Amino acid sequence: AVRGRGLADVRHGTKVTSLVDCLDGVRATIESGGRSQTVTADYAIGADGATSWVRGQLGIRMNGMPPLAQQINVYFHADLSELTEHRPAVLYWTINSAARGVFIAMDGRRRWTFNFEYNPAVETPADYPPERCRGIIAAALGRSDIDIEIQRVGGWTMCAETATAYRQGHVFLAGDAAHRFPPTGGIGMNTGLADADNLAWKLAAVINGWAGPTLLDSYHAERRPVAQSNTQYSVANALKMASTGIGPTATGVVERLESIDPDVAAAQRAAMADSIEQQRPHFGALNQDLGYRYDRPGAAVVPDGTDPPVLRDAATDFVATARPGSRLPHAWVVRDGALVSMLDLVGPHVLIITGRDGAHHLRCVTGVAEVPTSHVVLGADIVATDTDLHDLLGIGPNGWLIVRPDGHVAARSASPDGDGCAILTALAKVLSVTFTPA
Ligand SMILES: Cc1cc2nc3c(=O)[nH]c(=O)nc-3n(C[C@H](O)[C@H](O)[C@H](O)COP(=O)(O)OP(=O)(O)OC[C@H]3O[C@@H](n4cnc5c(N)ncnc54)[C@H](O)[C@@H]3O)c2cc1C
Repeated sequence: AVRGRGLADVRHGTKVTSLVDCLDGVRATIESGGRSQTVTADYAIGADGATSWVRGQLGIRMNGMPPLAQQINVYFHADLSELTEHRPAVLYWTINSAARGVFIAMDGRRRWTFNFEYNPAVETPADYPPERCRGIIAAALGRSDIDIEIQRVGGWTMCAETATAYRQGHVFLAGDAAHRFPPTGGIGMNTGLADADNLAWKLAAVINGWAGPTLLDSYHAERRPVAQSNTQYSVANALKMASTGIGPTATGVVERLESIDPDVAAAQRAAMADSIEQQRPHFGALNQDLGYRYDRPGAAVVPDGTDPPVLRDAATDFVATARPGSRLPHAWVVRDGALVSMLDLVGPHVLIITGRDGAHHLRCVTGVAEVPTSHVVLGADIVATDTDLHDLLGIGPNGWLIVRPDGHVAARSASPDGDGCAILTALAKVLSVTFTPA
């Protein structure tokens, strides 16, 4: 898809073997098929995974807890429909004395992974050849008659760490290179994608000359706290799962489940059944997923003096708000006769939304210093189907909102006085530029 849009030169099977930060950009050596080539660029992003070579080259440390566990990940093909079709799920945990781990459905049919813990003091992933893995999976399934085709076996370390710096000179870290946390919560890749969403528009703005270079410093200020919060959340989920008998800190569970004393086994089963309800924040954490906001010092946002919503549970309770730093709320709206989400108004431009009587604010930002903008006047360009958009966005009829290309609200004025161009001042602050009057 990226290739199809002509935006990037995508090269598979290519390895970066050196990266030098020069005064005006970066110079990298890339190797492919035995051939080596030097490329130069304004900036580089190290999105090279949990053991990031780029991070090592930059000497950036990770900050967090010691490793929580060592895991084997087996990717395999098997038809498990007989065991799963009456209880479809993405994750299936199994516990018995021969095998204990989690099956993750890749396509809900034949493609699966099975993850389980190993002891690094006595073993390495090389001690798990396909035949041994096949036996472990059969034991976990409790079936020896199912055809299991092992595709790939690898080891990974369950960590809870965040890079101390997301940027050094012209090089940035993104994805697992910048943060690694337990998969309990399912937000590792989501956090990485949001890193890219945050950084991409800023790089485009700086390279295309409509934002100042200091805008790029906001990447660390905005994204690192999100990774830290997601790390804490994921670790808390992992620890809480111990009460169900799952995870590195759960001990004695298998012994009790398989006890010859039926009362001991029944008590363990009952305790596990009870604790399942406690896992709800792990699997329905809308605020953890969507409620993160950029309102710390250094964010590319202009605060409007309002407080964030008060939440009963920081993981599960999500309150849609257009407070600066938050993600633009969703609402169904009609635009040009079509029903769309308000989120569909966001694009590679700065989005300006005004109240129904606020169209005059647009004059201030039209054609300014080549900043790509799009404009929406509530009640004229979009009409809500079942929401009061002024209420939802927290602006009066004369108010305005600046939304960044990553969908986060950059600035808001609920009811500005007079016809001044405060919106232009806010835009300049967000983009770290000074606009010269036309
Ligand atoms: C069991 C498990 C379950 C998970 N479930 C979820 C989930 O449900 N939801 C979720 O959001 N996340 C989940 N995650 C986390 C998710 O898999 C990772 O966060 C994500 O894959 C990280 O993506 P990345 O692109 O940053 O790194 P990677 O996927 O590791 O990709 C890094 C890439 O960089 C390449 N590379 C490395 N060095 C170089 C070099 N020198 N030159 C060129 N290329 C290089 C590598 O070959 C690789 O292709 C899970 C993880 C695990 C282990």
